[in-house]
Amino acid sequence: MRIPSQSCAPHTVGMRRLALQSLLILLCAAVSSCSGTSPSSGAANDQVATVEEAVQAPPQSTPWLVVLCKASDYQTVPAGLDVGFFRRLFATRGTGGLLDYWRDQSYGNVDLTGSVVTDWATGPNPSYIASDGNRWIAARPPNSPGSITGQQVIQDCINTQQGKQDFSKFYNVIALYNVLVGTQGGIGAVVGGKTFPAAVKVDVGTAGMTVLAHEMGHGYTLGHSFVAVVRENIAIHMTS
Ligand SMILES: [Zn+2]
Repeated sequence: MRIPSQSCAPHTVGMRRLALQSLLILLCAAVSSCSGTSPSSGAANDQVATVEEAVQAPPQSTPWLVVLCKASDYQTVPAGLDVGFFRRLFATRGTGGLLDYWRDQSYGNVDLTGSVVTDWATGPNPSYIASDGNRWIAARPPNSPGSITGQQVIQDCINTQQGKQDFSKFYNVIALYNVLVGTQGGIGAVVGGKTFPAAVKVDVGTAGMTVLAHEMGHGYTLGHSFVAVVRENIAIHMTS
């Protein structure tokens, strides 16, 4: 995790970018930790663009493809988190979900209309019960707990939609699992001939608006705020 420059933003920065930067600062203040939380990841897993570099204003139309994925050996989805829930959350206007959220927070400059939430698909990776008692995604084969990379977690999930989706339509992709995968955004993925440079992975254990919106912010190339960086550095000094 690099510490972003605290110098002022260029004066040429647009209103859309300013609005989104403000948004992520607010989100980071609300999220105690947005780093990957799988046993193999740790804070270093959440390496994303800083506020001052690599931020690119998105086009107004940013339809997302949200792929719902199950572990190969575990089909259970928590009650209430069915496909309809996620379609209302990500892709339906007037629900107070993420489509409304991004439109409002960007003053209408970002529109998720056209986003698609798939049916649940079964991915190739099994799950395992970690020492914390929670069920996490595992690599295959060999079934080695915690050894799978965040990039592979995303790639394996979105690969289930090969031949089913027109990937060229989408601004970005989210791999959303029924087991814990560690939330993370800003990871490169390639599918259907299209490169998604800042894809996102989340899971049903973090299906709340705050974390999901935060990781989508990384999907919009936004970095961490000063508040989050200070908190992370304090945590490092407290534990080292
Ligand atoms: Zn983050």
